[in-house]
Amino acid sequence: MGDGSMWATVFIAPGELSFQQMPMPDIGPEDLLVKINTALTCGTDVKTYKRGHPKYNPPTLFGHEFAGDVIATGKDVKNFAVGMRVAAGNTAPCNECYFCKRGQPNLCDDLLVNLGAFAEYIRIPGRLVRQNTFALPDYLSYRQAAIIEPLACVVHGQDLLRIQPGESVALVGAGGPIGLMHLQLALRQGASPVIAIDINDGRLAVAERLGATRIVNSTREDPAAVVRDLTEGRGADVIIESAGAKATWLTALDVARKGARVQWFGGLPGGVKVEVDSTRVHYDELTIFGVYHLTPLSLERAFRLVCNGIIDAESLITHQTPLKKLEDGLKMMMRGESLKVAVLP
Ligand SMILES: [Zn+2]
Ligand SMILES: [Zn+2]
Repeated sequence: MGDGSMWATVFIAPGELSFQQMPMPDIGPEDLLVKINTALTCGTDVKTYKRGHPKYNPPTLFGHEFAGDVIATGKDVKNFAVGMRVAAGNTAPCNECYFCKRGQPNLCDDLLVNLGAFAEYIRIPGRLVRQNTFALPDYLSYRQAAIIEPLACVVHGQDLLRIQPGESVALVGAGGPIGLMHLQLALRQGASPVIAIDINDGRLAVAERLGATRIVNSTREDPAAVVRDLTEGRGADVIIESAGAKATWLTALDVARKGARVQWFGGLPGGVKVEVDSTRVHYDELTIFGVYHLTPLSLERAFRLVCNGIIDAESLITHQTPLKKLEDGLKMMMRGESLKVAVLP
């Protein structure tokens, strides 16, 4: 640009985005200025576009998965220099509050949130630079690196589940990017069988290619019957719901064996109530987890998984769009025609 301005997409209101010119971000002594090479669309962006986001105050920059090049550093920055290729998370905890001190930094009372990946440039604040920013090895593409944020949420979710080799895992909403990452990670941990449940045949085909033991289109087959068939009539040991719908939260319970661990990964709109049969919780001793976001540790481990090729990031990115066409990309994802869309400024 050179004139101190940049192009960026601003979230105005549900269903309304504005692609506009605005001043480049200023950086403080501990911050980085990064020229974005690739951003990725995410289910959260689609939800925000559709219905707003409880934690966003529009009008606001948005987009939170990205990788790019450092083009300026604050005077106190030590570990990064101009010209480095980097990827960063979108939040950083305070490390001082009640939750941080108890090892739950994802629940930090003072979580710093950094949005604005759907733009030409982004500022990375010092707290994020110190905790959640990574220099990319030469062999790692920007596209692959940009996946670390959602992958870290998946890693954090599976940390809570402690999947053991040989356990059966049912994935409800398996065909979205999050479900497909859960699938790959569960397989790596030796889970078997791993049953992928979704309503979209195209997405189920990806799940099959990535190694799902059995795919189930729940519009044609009863997931509970298929899961029981594959588990000697019991139901799955571990269930992960990642579609973020009330119906799929309930399907997750339908396919659970007695004593199962059930994780409701996908968030529902604020205020939605889900009714659970108390018999299943008490007599069947179900353990039901909610899970939210990521920790610096899960982000670091996600980065390593991507660097080491453990997670196939490319299989989750099906389309590409220039920044000014972002809205089309979000709509495509909303219709289930794409997985993640790479957004190029
Ligand atoms: Zn995301
Ligand atoms: Zn905190």
